[in-house]
Amino acid sequence: MTSIDFNINSLVRTSVKNLKPYSSAREEYKDFDKDMVFLDANENPNNNGVNRYPDSQQLKLKQRLSKLKHVRVNNILLGNGSDEVLDLLIRTFCEPKKDQIIILPPTYGMYQVLADINNVSSISVALDNNFQLRVDDILKTATSNTKMLFLCAPNNPTGNHFKSQKIEFLLKKFNGIVVIDEAYIDFSSQKSWLAKLDEFPNLVITQTLSKAYGMAGIRLGLCFASKIIIETINKIKPPYNINILTQQYVLQQLQNVAHIEAQIQNIKKQRKRLEHALHSISFIEQVYPTETNFILIKVDDATKRYQQLINKGIVVRNRTSQLGCKNCLRITVGTSKENNTLINVLKNL
Ligand SMILES: *Cc1c(COP(=O)(O)O)cnc(C)c1O
Repeated sequence: MTSIDFNINSLVRTSVKNLKPYSSAREEYKDFDKDMVFLDANENPNNNGVNRYPDSQQLKLKQRLSKLKHVRVNNILLGNGSDEVLDLLIRTFCEPKKDQIIILPPTYGMYQVLADINNVSSISVALDNNFQLRVDDILKTATSNTKMLFLCAPNNPTGNHFKSQKIEFLLKKFNGIVVIDEAYIDFSSQKSWLAKLDEFPNLVITQTLSKAYGMAGIRLGLCFASKIIIETINKIKPPYNINILTQQYVLQQLQNVAHIEAQIQNIKKQRKRLEHALHSISFIEQVYPTETNFILIKVDDATKRYQQLINKGIVVRNRTSQLGCKNCLRITVGTSKENNTLINVLKNL
């Protein structure tokens, strides 16, 4: 199989290609550790821990993430949640009213919303009956204005992973950026695509600290790509998008990765227990296989069951209106106690 001839610059939006980025005061002088007198950024000089602007390139945090993920610092960009990263990606590559992205429903709803906000059209190529990729249809759908393809792997809300040969085929054949959203990768039996970053110049991987890493509240999204792609997104990134508290908190939490890994193992154990229990509930018609921290189930009447659960104080996600997800509910794996509550309530509905 021959790879497509790939040229990043031909994909970048013209205004971004020609952009002279804003140069913030702190970007012109970066040496934070030296004992300098900072009179350049109109800050309040009284030290309270947060009176200075944060490092706009988050170097210390990236160095730590570089070790954790085995990816070079210049292949990393950080966002205020991965939702910000996804928005930056669309704005970097897509010309409003002209370019398109491909999305693969049922999938994470933000790709469509972000495209809509940016006046970029999105073409949907449905997953097949097993929620797998229709590779030929995806490639057939792409035109010269199709800049990006969004793959959520493992996929939300279905929970499954895609066959890696199919993803690899798309990376080789799709003549644009392939974004693999790995929000749930830490729960998966399949490996991250991070190790393949150098192999595919059109590969962009997003991850987040919001799910497995337990830090949804501090908003940190990770983007991994070639140096040239990272430099290009950096041109349009708001200079101070990651605040000081987030940078410090994450560095502190990552001192004990073993603790996070133990939590992930425990969530996976709970997932197995919950899957087993769900199989025994009479009105649950299907429990879909999952590589994430949630389980998609098909029930007799999703909206009725959803409301019954609400009345018992349990909130799940009703996905019945999503393509291919009629009467489906998405249930996040909770603590052992929360899962017991759910199972007891379901048994008595
Ligand atoms: C939760 C989720 C995100 C959002 O992550 P944030 O970093 O919290 O913005 C991105 N992609 C998928 C598939 C998700 O489920």
